[in-house]
Amino acid sequence: MTYKDEILRLMTQPEQPNALYYHCSAVIDPEKGLQWSVQTQWCGYADERPRREIRKGCLYHGEAQRNWLHEAGYPALLINDELDLKYFYLLGGNALILQELAEKRFAHHIEPTVCLRESGGLGFASADSLSKTQLQHAPTKTVRMEVLTRDGRRCQICGRSPAYYVDVELHVHHAIPWGKGGMTEVQNLITLCKTCHDGLEPHCDMDLVNLLHEKYPNVAFTYLEDIKRYQAWIKSQMEAVT
Ligand SMILES: [Zn+2]
Ligand SMILES: [Zn+2]
Repeated sequence: MTYKDEILRLMTQPEQPNALYYHCSAVIDPEKGLQWSVQTQWCGYADERPRREIRKGCLYHGEAQRNWLHEAGYPALLINDELDLKYFYLLGGNALILQELAEKRFAHHIEPTVCLRESGGLGFASADSLSKTQLQHAPTKTVRMEVLTRDGRRCQICGRSPAYYVDVELHVHHAIPWGKGGMTEVQNLITLCKTCHDGLEPHCDMDLVNLLHEKYPNVAFTYLEDIKRYQAWIKSQMEAVT
């Protein structure tokens, strides 16, 4: 069997009877580097302030989820054993991994973990994987300056700037509120004047989340590129050891 045949086999092989699968992915994001993730589901709240979600790996019917991914344009492998898993490590992208195999190999990605919301509202990141500045409420001076500069020192709702209106006071606001699991990073922070900020009702306005989304390229569009980057990275790793 050639390498291509193996890939085709993993993209079409049947699921094991009465088994469930975790949906995992491995890509390289140009900004964040290696992203190894598991689709999770809400399973409670952590006993801390601000209140943060606890999430755990979500189980799927392997074939159904794989077919759904194929229809959505995301190639996915169905992984039943250790050999299949090796191919996934080499290829990256999406995979449905047999429950017991995943629990044996990467339990820490599946176990319940405290999570924050990824900026843009697409997914979740475990609190362990984040930096102190992303977790704290107030942005650092550098982050604040970056946000103000990106937004041209203008309120992103009314467009007023202190350069033209002396009474304008600019605030840096969390699009996904910090108290609701939003991160303190440029992708989740937006410039507002005091008046618009005070008048923001409700405090989490999805229009602002979407506005920030437009300022940063959508992950979905670069997804296939991210898989290619992963494959190139694996190749360089292998060349380094041989
Ligand atoms: Zn304003
Ligand atoms: Zn705010």
